[in-house]
Amino acid sequence: MLRDFKNFLFPKLCACCESALQTNEVLICTYCRHELPLYPNFFDGDHHLHKILYGRVLLDQAASLFYFEKKGIIQNLIHDLKYKGNKEVSFHLGEWLGDILQETGWQDKIDIVIPVPLHKQRMRERGYNQVEGFGRAIAEALSAEFNSHLLKRKSFSKTQVFKNRLARTDVVQNHFYVRGENDLRHQNVLLVDDLVTTGATLEACYLALKTAGVEKLNIATIAITT
Ligand SMILES: [Zn+2]
Repeated sequence: MLRDFKNFLFPKLCACCESALQTNEVLICTYCRHELPLYPNFFDGDHHLHKILYGRVLLDQAASLFYFEKKGIIQNLIHDLKYKGNKEVSFHLGEWLGDILQETGWQDKIDIVIPVPLHKQRMRERGYNQVEGFGRAIAEALSAEFNSHLLKRKSFSKTQVFKNRLARTDVVQNHFYVRGENDLRHQNVLLVDDLVTTGATLEACYLALKTAGVEKLNIATIAITT
């Protein structure tokens, strides 16, 4: 009763369209849930990530929950996740994909789930990594470990960033590192990210993970541009 009243005064809003949620709806309204552009090839070798990262990353398996469409509800959803502090959405999407991955037998293939780390300054501004909940929920579904401390992003001064823009390889090779010498050796890693566009960030993470002796790299993302 009290909850209904509170909900009446401060209705919870859909993370995609911002309409008031009904009591039986969780985070995303029924309409948007049906409209969201689900990525169909969850587990086969035709996943678009294999094409994007071809020749750059030795990728084992890839999965994405949605296609990214500009101006679509998925753009609102990612925006909500990044800028409005909607951590619950991140976890919820992880549960969604986690269930699918579990059904397709991924739980035997992943030892540890690692999120793409944020810049330190971003982290300070935002207070959380928007992909952490997503990764945690997937790790739970697959009975894998979750660790957001092993893969780190280096911080650069503005001049360094500018110089690196001129030389793309520097960006790719030097932006990430793994803390802890042997923690990832021979591990099957699932790297998680929110949205993939060029794959440059994933490639940079891969190089750091490879140096740390990771056995197999798998990637799961909330959305992917195609
Ligand atoms: Zn909605």
